Amino acid sequence: MTIEIRDVSKRYGSFQALQNINLEIPKGELVALLGPSGSGKTTLLRMIAGLESIEEGIISFDGKDLTNTHVNQRDVGFVFQHYALFKHMTVFDNIAFGLNVRKKKLRPKKAEIEKKVYELLDLVKLSGFAKRYPSQLSGGQRQRVALARALAVEPQILLLDEPFGALDAKVRKELRRWLRKLHNEMHVTSVFVTHDQEEALDVADRIVIMNEGKIEQIGTPSEVYDSPKSPFVYDFLGDVNLFHGRLDQGKLKVGSVELNVPEYQNISDKEAVGYVRPHHMKIDRQKQSDDAIAAKVFFCHSIGPVWYVELKRENMDEYVEVELTKEEYEQLNLSVGEFVYVRPKEMKVFIPEDFVI
Ligand code: ATP
Repeated sequence: MTIEIRDVSKRYGSFQALQNINLEIPKGELVALLGPSGSGKTTLLRMIAGLESIEEGIISFDGKDLTNTHVNQRDVGFVFQHYALFKHMTVFDNIAFGLNVRKKKLRPKKAEIEKKVYELLDLVKLSGFAKRYPSQLSGGQRQRVALARALAVEPQILLLDEPFGALDAKVRKELRRWLRKLHNEMHVTSVFVTHDQEEALDVADRIVIMNEGKIEQIGTPSEVYDSPKSPFVYDFLGDVNLFHGRLDQGKLKVGSVELNVPEYQNISDKEAVGYVRPHHMKIDRQKQSDDAIAAKVFFCHSIGPVWYVELKRENMDEYVEVELTKEEYEQLNLSVGEFVYVRPKEMKVFIPEDFVI
């Protein structure tokens, strides 16, 4: 089912939780709503589900306006962060629940329900767990039961709100691989809410980045990561070094340093900020050019094969973070306290006045 959201806004009293949201999610797509706490992700998800009223704008599934369609008639499955499985029911009964509560006319036969539940248990890799109770499962297993329960009624749309939020990093990673696989096999249209950048970049076909009730950018993981359209998106999607300065005929002048920005050849004397990811910074022992920034090595540490070097800019209370491969780090042979030069290999410039709301 295709989900279309047109000009949707939402207020809670005088507070504007969503403002003019426009988004189309084609059938079979896995979309992440990503943004900081309070940006409106859950509100939007709940509106798609039918758990929040639509007062402004239109949400339609396959062209059918849902404004007055009750949650039960929307054909959506939900999975929430606090996987509220029924504690007093076995795994089997939890998964069968949505089918068992159907009106008699619509309810499948007992044998069919049983077949379906065992198929789903197989799918979520919990075949031997039918008789267990939720308290006898790990967090990740409970989460998979919650997904199986949502899928049992064969929804056209699957909505997940921070589905792996409460789990540890390794289990989260395993479950998101598995969600991707499941999504591909079931051909549902899925929307999941997360505030975890890595999770969204890793799993989603497209990411919707939200901030203060508005959409900042929509794109594939590589589009939003490699071509962020706003300082907010750049900042939100990873670590970043900021260089505040003035644009002047193809240069960003940051103190005595001149960083080359040929794309701004025609702009003179305008305040701007250069954004550089730590892995786009280079460290040299000698000053190679005018874009070299003098800095003192402050702290070095590694996580697996990546080395992180923190440097303090000369005569300034500003720090620069550089990410190096193990080979690069070993070649440089840095010592804490020594002076070196850093320079950006790649930089994105934003002019603050273009982003004033
Ligand atoms: P989080 O990641 O923390 O769950 P979110 O992006 O999902 O955040 P929402 O839950 O959609 O954010 O909330 C958006 C804003 O709307 C927040 O500022 C929240 O306080 C407010 N809000 C949500 N529900 C209500 C409500 N029922 N009444 C009043 N304000 C609400």
